[in-house]
Amino acid sequence: MTSILTLCVSTHSSIPRSGLELLAAARSLSQQTDVGPVQMLFLGSGVRELAPALIHHGADQVLLVDHPGLEHPNDEVVLGIAEKVVRQFAPRVVLLSHDDLSGGHVGPRLAHRLKTGIVTDCTGFAVQDGHIRWLRPVYGGKAMAYMCVRGPVQIVTIRSRAFEPLPADPLRTGEVQEVPLAPEALSASVVVVERVETAEAEGGLSLDRAEIIVSGGRGMGSAEGFSILHELARVLGAAVGGSRPAADMGWVPHSHLVGQTGKIVAPKLYIAVGISGATQHMAGAGSSKTIVAINKDPDAPIFKLAHIGVIGEWEKIVPPLIQAFQEMRSR
Ligand SMILES: Cc1cc2nc3c(=O)[nH]c(=O)nc-3n(C[C@H](O)[C@H](O)[C@H](O)COP(=O)(O)OP(=O)(O)OC[C@H]3O[C@@H](n4cnc5c(N)ncnc54)[C@H](O)[C@@H]3O)c2cc1C
Repeated sequence: MTSILTLCVSTHSSIPRSGLELLAAARSLSQQTDVGPVQMLFLGSGVRELAPALIHHGADQVLLVDHPGLEHPNDEVVLGIAEKVVRQFAPRVVLLSHDDLSGGHVGPRLAHRLKTGIVTDCTGFAVQDGHIRWLRPVYGGKAMAYMCVRGPVQIVTIRSRAFEPLPADPLRTGEVQEVPLAPEALSASVVVVERVETAEAEGGLSLDRAEIIVSGGRGMGSAEGFSILHELARVLGAAVGGSRPAADMGWVPHSHLVGQTGKIVAPKLYIAVGISGATQHMAGAGSSKTIVAINKDPDAPIFKLAHIGVIGEWEKIVPPLIQAFQEMRSR
């Protein structure tokens, strides 16, 4: 029997949202094809008790690797474990999260080791004549393309927030199987000495986790101008992002750059202030569920993509907006 294998590396002894998104994608695929049940290879330290939650969120079988040596897992170790599990269980599809260690670092190397194909940064899929066609943005997000994988196993990385996690169903049942780990499986040529959450340390809430992002561009004019975006973000419980010029001028940390060469985000709400909407920026922000643009130029390209457009200078728009949100919150 074949299967769909999802790969999730636990962070801080918790289940990352990206793992739940993979389970949602895999469930949908399982329902539309005969690829088989949904497995999750779940790695971490002290994570055994999280396995039932993975079943409640869509896994039929959890392949658990729980080991103290995986507290700060590195990609070489994850790659070795993933390769062993794929060879043992022979899934037809392997899904990884595009935006974390497992997708970006492990996916392509896994495909190479297995002599198979990979499609990266997928936002969806379609099934036609029994074949899975993976949907992904191309040309910096200007077009979408369907791609097929030829090879013994399809390796696919899924863009963050392309799928919504399924609500937990405590009545769902499944199997938890421990995967034994040989001591040499933990040895790697590169050792993780310390892991620093730069995004949080430098710029507040991380872009990956935020449901609302307030982003600023060159139009903010200065670091002082940018501080009002932090104020807006604080009121909304949002993360702060920025365009390339804003990051290059040091108004926002590079870890908070949104776009083709920065983070690809898909929050529920993306508020772009003083951002023109260049293709390279929108390649990172275009999948947001609702885009609000504030720009003084009525011909700014961002208005073609924004769901709500506000034409005017941010100096006159953002302060009353903050006040209105504050009043709403205090009600
Ligand atoms: C290979 C490559 C990769 C790139 N990768 C990225 C990337 O990942 N991310 C990214 O962002 N860019 C990237 N860029 C740069 C990109 O092409 C644009 O130059 C950049 O996004 C423009 O940033 P901006 O919108 O902040 O600035 P601008 O294009 O200068 O726009 C500023 C906007 O602010 C408005 N404005 C000015 N004053 C006010 C005011 N007082 N109130 C309201 N609005 C005001 C203006 O009308 C204007 O629309 C890349 C470029 C290349 C070539």
